[in-house]
Amino acid sequence: MPMISKDCEFFIAIDSDGCVFDTMEIKHKECFCPAAIKHFGLQPVSKYAREAWEFVNLYSRHRGTNRFPALVSVVDLLRVRPEVIARHAAVPQLSALRQWIARETKLGNPALQKAAATESTLHAVYEWSTEVNARIDDLVYGVPPFPRVRKCLERAAKRADLIVSSGTPLRALHREWAEHSLASYVKRIAGQEDGTKTQHLEAAANGKYPPTRILMVGDAPGDLRAARSVNACFYPIVPGREETSWQHFHDEALGRFFAGQYTGAYQESLIQALEDALPTQPPWAAA
Ligand SMILES: [Mg+2]
Repeated sequence: MPMISKDCEFFIAIDSDGCVFDTMEIKHKECFCPAAIKHFGLQPVSKYAREAWEFVNLYSRHRGTNRFPALVSVVDLLRVRPEVIARHAAVPQLSALRQWIARETKLGNPALQKAAATESTLHAVYEWSTEVNARIDDLVYGVPPFPRVRKCLERAAKRADLIVSSGTPLRALHREWAEHSLASYVKRIAGQEDGTKTQHLEAAANGKYPPTRILMVGDAPGDLRAARSVNACFYPIVPGREETSWQHFHDEALGRFFAGQYTGAYQESLIQALEDALPTQPPWAAA
């Protein structure tokens, strides 16, 4: 992760998918999930596979999780669901994938490709993951930023050094931020190849700005954990209420951050709203 020059008194890291761009729905519903149904033989239970996929990746505390642990969570939910059991559907265990996740630190296609050479389950996972990337390349373009994002970046960039901190591959990030002319507001785009979001924050901001002057903006619990790992402030873009979240950031939260009035009860109530929006139990299990 290359360093950035410190030109401002404040630092803000911004997540991309589901935070700046409304790309989570199209990626998961049209790319990840259909490819999983195809590669893991989930056709007989496609309705339940879709519900599980969307719960894990869009509407729960798992939102924003790396695709491989997310796939494991989905099959675990499916295998205990009564409707799936009643259909005698063969939902894969993915034991080899679990072992790979436990031993590998870089959960991406390059590492998986090597491991897949000698293991058939991993080969299927690699084929799925590769098809997901191809589907995203083919389908996901022309998705604009959420309303008011541009105004927020414009205002934020006047007083803060801005970076993008994302788990998405760099190629897609550069394409998306350039496509919508947002790249000029940020000093650096950090993606999957630059390590985790915690590593981005450590490299770019830790020790250079006081923690109360470092802010992470994100839409998932993993973004919050990254902020906490460096004692930074966190502003949530709440899933399902993205427009209101950006409006509130523009009208109030950004100003409070710059005024040193952000931490404490104010920040905690915002974080609570994110946690309330992302349940731990799927709706079909809670009934
Ligand atoms: Mg996100």
